Amino acid sequence: MEDCIFCKIVAGEIPSKKVYEDDECVAFWDIQPQAKVHILVIPKKHLTSLAQADQQESDLLGHLVLVCGQVAREQGLGEDGYRVTTNIGDHGQQSVKHLHFHVLGGEKLSAKMG
Ligand code: 5GP
Ligand code: ZN
Repeated sequence: MEDCIFCKIVAGEIPSKKVYEDDECVAFWDIQPQAKVHILVIPKKHLTSLAQADQQESDLLGHLVLVCGQVAREQGLGEDGYRVTTNIGDHGQQSVKHLHFHVLGGEKLSAKMG
């Protein structure tokens, strides 16, 4: 997908601080962390958001969510807890139009969801 920042990260055209990669997805540090730990988990395949995903994507979506948990464990967040979110569209304040899950933690997060 042309002009998609996250597709460029997948292709290695934009550098990122990767913590995990497999055939389906990549996880890397957010460039502007909103918490002590802030990692993004994205599919290699371009999907605009969760709203664009259908039943065909169910295995991929399950995998992405499990990778969020794995990354969180590897960052030492397993015991104290953490948050996994995904923003969708305009009202969801999604700024990058390539599906991504935020893994946030390493400190007590705001109780507000946004
Ligand atoms: P959204 O607001 O779409 O849910 O989240 C997009 C996230 O991507 C933001 O937290 C933003 O800081 C992060 N981001 C935007 N551009 C880049 C980039 O080039 N590299 C990295 N690592 N993160 C980015
Ligand atoms: Zn993309």
